[in-house]
Amino acid sequence: MRLSELLKEKLSVREELASKLDRMERKEALDDGHAHREPIPCGLTVHPGRGCTYACIYCYVEDMGVPRRPEPSRLSGLQLAYAIASNPYTLLGKGGTFLAFGSVTEPFLPAIKGRTLEYLEAISRYLRNPTQFSTKAYLSEEDAERISSLDPSVSALVTIPALRWAGRLEPKAPSPELRFRTLSNLLQRGIHASLFLRPLIPGVSEADGTLILNRAASLGVKGVVLGALRVTLRILRKLEALGLEDLVDRMVREPKSPNDQVPLNTGDLKRMLSSRARVLGLKVFPSACSANVDAHDLGCHMCNMGPCNGSLPDYDPEEIEQALRGMGIEVKIVPKDRKILALVKGGSKRMRRVQHLVSTTTKRMITVRSVR
Ligand code: SF4
Ligand code: SF4
Repeated sequence: MRLSELLKEKLSVREELASKLDRMERKEALDDGHAHREPIPCGLTVHPGRGCTYACIYCYVEDMGVPRRPEPSRLSGLQLAYAIASNPYTLLGKGGTFLAFGSVTEPFLPAIKGRTLEYLEAISRYLRNPTQFSTKAYLSEEDAERISSLDPSVSALVTIPALRWAGRLEPKAPSPELRFRTLSNLLQRGIHASLFLRPLIPGVSEADGTLILNRAASLGVKGVVLGALRVTLRILRKLEALGLEDLVDRMVREPKSPNDQVPLNTGDLKRMLSSRARVLGLKVFPSACSANVDAHDLGCHMCNMGPCNGSLPDYDPEEIEQALRGMGIEVKIVPKDRKILALVKGGSKRMRRVQHLVSTTTKRMITVRSVR
């Protein structure tokens, strides 16, 4: 994969999108976080809205100051695509930045669903990046058909962390039975749908996890992502009030503030459920982005949880240096086994830019150092 071609493609898509928007629409898009935010390891999170009514006991969205009442994002699909194409840390196309819907909302809530579908369409039509969504909503056969028509290669994660405990842990979310139907409807439309068994909750996942895996495997899911629980003190108290004990002993560190999200050590549950999943013939994805990589038939070793899926793309260090020089960034690319060392002239913003652009292009781990 050549960085110069990816940059040229990005510029041309950005110009095309700019020509479809008026000045105010462009300004609104450029002021939005999608035009500035740095991707996290799983990619750039796409926010079709904020807020959620499902009221999961373990949800930390409230601790981030996001109101519960769902509100769709103000940007249109075209504006969203333009914002992502303007983000200095992204690259477009199949070899570009991973995109993931969710994070501060449930993307298929009635108030948000229209925006989610609009964004899926705009991303698929203009950007063509590997895209993923996670959901607890019930998606009907018609919904699955629509999603498949907008982006047939999208990676879907359906979140089911509990069965018998679901009513207490996720009081306003669709029942696990409906979520299994979501999985089935997506799979029947040929969508790459995986089980999101997250969060793993001690006292719940031991028994429910195996049953969930068995049921998902019987539906034909591709694989499973097993994810740890992160708690704030508020979440911890709520879980303890349900009778789930000894969670505090599993916190990996002391919380630094009341809203600090502290992961619980659930390695034992992960190991146990991973073994069960493999026996059932499921792929165990180390992270959500790994399912996205699988859905798009890519290879990736951008973090130490990899390598994931297929072979890594070839790259030419000199070509990358030249492409970055064309952007006014002086860099020396040093291949190191399956990793890359980048020596950058400049400060932290340039270093971060090099980090995202080079690791996305090469799908390899990168260490960036500043040099004079
Ligand atoms: S579905 Fe997600 S965003 Fe909504 S309450 Fe549950 S954990 Fe929070
Ligand atoms: S190596 Fe795997 S887990 Fe790490 S960023 Fe790539 S796809 Fe995600």
